Amino acid sequence: MATLGIPQNTIAVLQKYQFNFQKKFGQNFLIDTHVLEKIIAASGVTKEDFVLEIGPGIGTMTQYLCESARAVAAVEIDKNLIPILEETLGAYDNVTVINDDILKLDIPRLVQEQNGGRPIRVVANLPYYITTPIIMGLFESHVPIDSITVMVQKEVADRMQAGPGTKDYGALSLAVQYYARPAVIANVPPNCFMPRPKVGSAVIRLTKHEKAVVQADNEKLLFDIIRASFNQRRKTLANGLGSAPGIPLPKEAIQGCIEQMGLSLTVRGEALTLAQFAELSNIIGKRLKEGQ
Ligand code: SAM
Repeated sequence: MATLGIPQNTIAVLQKYQFNFQKKFGQNFLIDTHVLEKIIAASGVTKEDFVLEIGPGIGTMTQYLCESARAVAAVEIDKNLIPILEETLGAYDNVTVINDDILKLDIPRLVQEQNGGRPIRVVANLPYYITTPIIMGLFESHVPIDSITVMVQKEVADRMQAGPGTKDYGALSLAVQYYARPAVIANVPPNCFMPRPKVGSAVIRLTKHEKAVVQADNEKLLFDIIRASFNQRRKTLANGLGSAPGIPLPKEAIQGCIEQMGLSLTVRGEALTLAQFAELSNIIGKRLKEGQ
């Protein structure tokens, strides 16, 4: 089977199977070998690795992954792509194609069964409509992971990588950085895909922290606080948290916690680092316990 990463070969496969793109599945197939090579190199995949690919499409990147990895599991929701994948991946015996919705699949079980529970690498050109649930689902389900190297909407990559005090900084930046170290690898223009997406794209690598970078006594409370702080960006931290349903403390008590950290009462959430959010959540958690 010829390499799919060039437009003529992708078109030939699509015509042979009379494939119709489904917008609802975020189908934009890669047709640029340079970008494909860059993703594989950035992912750090070696012959030791088990790779989970989300949304193989017609198998373009999967072919590269099969060449580089020990084993690949590719999860594709669109049943019309399954016969195509059987042909395009026919030459490889180290790939399993799973026809399922990645958001419904029991990934920890898959990793247990197919990789003995050892850390995997995730590599994908993601369906953009579910980028955040896929990434957060992978982190929050505590699947053993070394790294996640994915194509996402450029704007989302910028938000994942942003630091305090910038316009892109928010709940997604903090959630991603709590679990991993983000690095944007490349910006990718719409003409590298078929059909062309309306937005710019970027490849980002998230390298999972080996040890927690901050100490949060209660992860759920930390994320409740982060979400509440950015829900109404223009509010001060004290006002944002004082009216948040998940944080049952009066505004005066919240103000006390903020002052205890040596912060001004006019500070906004967007100025706080992840470490400061963790410290604040530990202080608030203690007050909540004391009030019980
Ligand atoms: N990897 C291919 C490539 O680079 O050419 C295709 C990438 S395309 C952006 C996203 C792929 O994800 C499509 O094949 C789409 O059908 C699939 N997909 C969409 N939603 C999915 C879901 N919930 N679970 C699994 N796959 C999904």
